[in-house]
Amino acid sequence: AKERGKNNWVRYASGMEQAAQAHARLGGELRRGLDAGEFRVVYQPLVSLDTGRIIGAEALVRWAHPERGLVSPADFIPAAERTGLIVPLGRFVLRETCRQAAAWLAEFGPDALAKVAPNVSVRQLHDPDFVDDVKAALADSGLCAERLVLELTESAVLRGAQALRVLHELHDMGVRLALDDFGTGESSLSLLRAFPAAIVKLDKSFVDGIEFDELGTPAADARQAVARAVIQLAGALGLDTVAEGIENQEQADRLHRLGYTVGQGYHLGRPVPPEEITARFAAEAEQ
Ligand code: C2E
Ligand code: CA
Ligand code: CA
Ligand code: CA
Repeated sequence: AKERGKNNWVRYASGMEQAAQAHARLGGELRRGLDAGEFRVVYQPLVSLDTGRIIGAEALVRWAHPERGLVSPADFIPAAERTGLIVPLGRFVLRETCRQAAAWLAEFGPDALAKVAPNVSVRQLHDPDFVDDVKAALADSGLCAERLVLELTESAVLRGAQALRVLHELHDMGVRLALDDFGTGESSLSLLRAFPAAIVKLDKSFVDGIEFDELGTPAADARQAVARAVIQLAGALGLDTVAEGIENQEQADRLHRLGYTVGQGYHLGRPVPPEEITARFAAEAEQ
């Protein structure tokens, strides 16, 4: 808790004035950190539940702050969105992720890495240069569009026709779109009609405790019902699925039996620097 606490500029400020000051300070710090090149991308394996092999990775941003150490996104993404700095930060993550993915493909071949998936926030979708940024990131890295998956939350997608137009444009380019944290939003089902999604990611909240069916607890039963409904829905709509937040083998087994073929979570691999993903590709290539 202490480790987290030291990264909390905002939450420890008491009173609105102090909170406002803390926000302003964080905004300035973000700008400085961006100019100083302090942001890093870490990668969390996406793993086949059929074979146990890595098939790709989600890209997650970290801030290597000179005094505060490694800062987690929960402590700066909201401020980055509020200040608009998420646009240049997101552009950095996108470019770096495409570059890294192309390097892995060159080293391990097209069978090793099916996809790489950075997160995109709603502010980026409303940036007029976003589609051009994606095109440039693909062109400069040589990564083909089909291997790029952009992860979006439902709330991001729901905000307006402009965002939806951009998503259709990306879809037409061949870029795949994943609905993140699926099942937690307010209108998951109606959204799927308008949104050109290729992948839905079952939220961790439905995976937590899903293994405890022997006890017949209502909570676990409800999670299984949601997990089952999502896999059926995805099947009917021709969408791929990823189950998020898998923390033990029992959860992986349960989800696999329900029909999930790709999983993500601490049990399958934590977010790590790219070198560790490279090592895993190399180790699996030898098997
Ligand atoms: P998310 O997109 O839902 O990413 C999954 C988060 O869950 C990650 O946290 C990951 O480390 C964590 N996680 C993965 N497996 C497990 C597990 O088995 N157990 C538990 N307890 N947690 C697990 P992280 O990296 O701290 O990121 C938090 C959120 O910050 C992300 O949630 C995403 O919404 C946002 N984020 C991260 N990177 C970026 C980025 O580059 N751009 C934008 N716009 N948002 C980002
Ligand atoms: Ca995500
Ligand atoms: Ca998620
Ligand atoms: Ca989330």
